[in-house]
Amino acid sequence: MLQTIAAFDRLGEENAFAVLARATQLAAAGRDIINLGIGQPDFRTPDFIVEAAVKALRDGHHGYTPAVGILPLREAVAADLHKRFAVSVSPDEVMIFPGGKPTMFMSILMFGEPGADILYPDPGFPIYRSMIEFTGARPVPVPIREENNFAFSAEETLGLITPRTRLLILNSPANPTGGVTPKAEVDKLVAALARYPDVTVMSDEIYDHILYDGETHVCLLQYPSIRDRLILLNGWSKTYAMTGWRLGYAVWPGKLYDYARKLAVNLHSCVNAPTQYAGLAALTGPQDEVAKMVAEFDKRRKVVVEGLNRLPGMSCATPKGAFYAFPNIKHTGWKAKPLATTLLEDSGVALIGGPDFGVLGEGYVRVSYANSTENILRALDRIGEFLVTRKAA
Ligand code: PLP
Repeated sequence: MLQTIAAFDRLGEENAFAVLARATQLAAAGRDIINLGIGQPDFRTPDFIVEAAVKALRDGHHGYTPAVGILPLREAVAADLHKRFAVSVSPDEVMIFPGGKPTMFMSILMFGEPGADILYPDPGFPIYRSMIEFTGARPVPVPIREENNFAFSAEETLGLITPRTRLLILNSPANPTGGVTPKAEVDKLVAALARYPDVTVMSDEIYDHILYDGETHVCLLQYPSIRDRLILLNGWSKTYAMTGWRLGYAVWPGKLYDYARKLAVNLHSCVNAPTQYAGLAALTGPQDEVAKMVAEFDKRRKVVVEGLNRLPGMSCATPKGAFYAFPNIKHTGWKAKPLATTLLEDSGVALIGGPDFGVLGEGYVRVSYANSTENILRALDRIGEFLVTRKAA
C-alpha cells in the first residue's frame, strides 16, 4: 500500500484556483458570475509580444535552450533593471524560469529544513507558507497591518529574527493587500540587516510596475549592502498580462545561482523557447501598453475603493499598488470565508477570503479589480444587496 508522505500533508495550495474552478463551474451551469477572485490581468497579451513568439517558432526556435535561459533575454533583463533602477546586474546573475513561482519554490527549498526559521508576510501569497511547511522549516509570520497601510514594519520584522532565521521573504507591492512599503522603511530594514549577515532576503517584486499615486518602486537590488544575499523574484505575468505563458526571472547571488541552475536542470530543463522570445520582445519593445493597463487599473481602483466604502459594515483603505483591494469586513458581522463562499453561491460574486492568505487575513476579503468597471459596479451592487438582505452565517 502506498505510504502517506508527511511533507505532502503539510504542503498547502492557493485557494484562488479552487474559487476560480467553482466560479467556472457555476458559470458553465448558466449562472452569471462576476469574478473578482482571480489574480491575473483581464487584458490580452499585447499583440507584438504574441507575434514575437509566433515568429520564433517559424524561425525554428523550438528546441531546448540553456537551462538558465537564452542569453539575449538575460541581457535584456539586466538592461531593464539598469534602466529602471540604475543597478548593475550581470546577465550571468539572471535566470529565466517558468513563472515567478519557481524562484520562491527554489529559494525556500534551499534554506528550509527542520530547525530553520523562515519569515514571510501574513497576510501574504499563500505559497510562501505552504513551501516553508513542506521543507520542515518553521514559518514565522511577519504581520502586515492595516494600521500600517499594509506596509511591512522594519521594527516588527527585525524583532522576529533569531539565530535560526535563514530567509526573510519580502513582497512590495503586495498581494493580497495592495500595500506598498515606503522607501524609508526599507532603508531602515536593510540598514539593520547588517547585524544579521546570515539572513538571506528573497524579495518578490512581481507587481513592481503596478503602482499608483506617483509611487516609485523600491527595488531591493538598489541596496549594495545586501546584494551578496539578495534573491530577486520577478516576471512577466502581471506586467505584460502573460500569466498563462509561464515566464519569470530571478537574480541570484553567488553560489545560489549554480544551485538554482542545477534545480532547473533537474526539474524543467528550460523555459519553452518561443515564450522566451516573447519575453524578449516585451522588455525591448514599446512600453505604452503597460502604462495603459496601469492607468486602467488605477481608474478601477478608485471605483472599487469608493464603492466598497459605501457598503454597510465595510471599510477599504486605498491600495497603492498591484490590482487588489483588501477591505475590512469586521463590522459586517460576517467571517471572511463564509462571506466569500456565500457571496459566490448566492450572488455570483467571486472574491477570496482573507484567511486564505494567512491567519491575520481574518476580517478581510481580497477583491481583485482585474475586471471591467462595468462588472465591478455590478458586483458592488450585488454585494450591497447581499449585505442588507442576508444574515451573517
Ligand atoms: N508572487 C506574488 C506575490 C504573486 O501574487 C504571484 C501570482 O499571483 C506570483 C508571485 C506568481 O507569479 P507567476 O504566475 O508568474 O508564477
